[in-house]
Amino acid sequence: MSIQSLPFRVLLYYKYVTIEDPILECEKHRELCESLGLKGRILFAHEGINGTVSGTIEATDAYIKHMHSDLRFTDMWFKVDEEDQHVFRKLFVRPKKELVTFRLEKDVNPLEKTGTYLKPKEWRKMMDDPNAVIIDARTDYEWDLGHFEGAIRPPVDSFKDFPKWVRDNLAALKDKKVMTYCTGGIRCEKFSAFLLQEGFQDVYQLHGGIVTYGKDPEVKGDKFEGMCYVFDERVSVPVNHTEQAQLVSHCVICGTPTDWYVNCANFDCHRQHFQCPDCVERTQCSCSPACQESPRHEYKEPYAQKFMAYKRVPRRNQSAAEK
Ligand SMILES: [Zn+2]
Ligand SMILES: [Zn+2]
Repeated sequence: MSIQSLPFRVLLYYKYVTIEDPILECEKHRELCESLGLKGRILFAHEGINGTVSGTIEATDAYIKHMHSDLRFTDMWFKVDEEDQHVFRKLFVRPKKELVTFRLEKDVNPLEKTGTYLKPKEWRKMMDDPNAVIIDARTDYEWDLGHFEGAIRPPVDSFKDFPKWVRDNLAALKDKKVMTYCTGGIRCEKFSAFLLQEGFQDVYQLHGGIVTYGKDPEVKGDKFEGMCYVFDERVSVPVNHTEQAQLVSHCVICGTPTDWYVNCANFDCHRQHFQCPDCVERTQCSCSPACQESPRHEYKEPYAQKFMAYKRVPRRNQSAAEK
C-alpha cells in the first residue's frame, strides 16, 4: 500500500532495552537529529527509547539506517506514515525516568513478562470470541476520538491512573481473555505486564498498535470506529479503510460528525472538544458563547490561518492512504 507520493515521513518507534546513560544518549541523539533536520520527540530512559519524528524521506531513511547499525536497536521496528510536511514544530530529546509514566510501586519489565502479541489478523479474529474483553490502554480523550468496537473506555486522563482504575473496577475480568491495545504498542507492553502481575490469566496485546492494524492489507482497520489520536500536529489519523468506516465524535456546537479535536480559544477554558470546521470558523474556536466573549479569547490571525491550513492536511492523506 506504500506508494511513495509524499515527500515527508513520520516515524513512530520504541524499544525496551538497557540504556546505560540516558543523559549522554540524549546529547548524542540531539546532534544526530539536528544534522538530519528531524523534528519530534524522543525520550531515553534506563529502560529504553520511545520516539516519534518527522523529516524528509532521505533524512528518515538515514536515521533508520543509523539506528539499525547500533546493536541495541538493530531490530527496532519503525512504523512509517507519509506526509507532505513536518508534523512537529521543534525537536525535543529528553531523559526520563520511565518511557511511559506508570509509577508502579513494583515496576514491571516487559522484557521478562508481557502479554501475548497478536498480529492484526489474529486480533480481528479474537474480537469475535465471546469470552474476550477489550481494554483500551489509552486515556479517555483518545478513546473519545476513536476506538475498537466494544472496547472498555478507561475513565482516566493520565496513564499513571491506570493501576488504581484496574484494581477498583476490573477484578471481575481476571478469568476472561483480556485484549489490550494502544497507539503504537509501547503502553501495552507495560500495561499487559501489569495485568499479568495483578493475576489476570490470559492477556493479549495488539502488536504494533492501532497504527499497524490500520495498515494491514487484509484487515484494513476493520472494527475500529472513529480516528486514531496521535501526539503531533495531525491530532488524528485514519485507521479503518473498509466500507464501514465512520466517525464516532460529534461537533459540540451543531452535532455534525467530526474528527476535529480542538482546544477552546478562551485561554481560561482551553477545554479540548470536538468542533466541525464550519463552527470553528464561526465561533472562532470557542466551546460556548461565553467563551467566545471572554476577554482572554485568543483565536487571532495568523494562528487561526495556520490552524485551518494545517487541519486540512489529514484529509488529503486519507485518500492517499486508501490507494
Ligand atoms: Zn459544528
Ligand atoms: Zn471554552
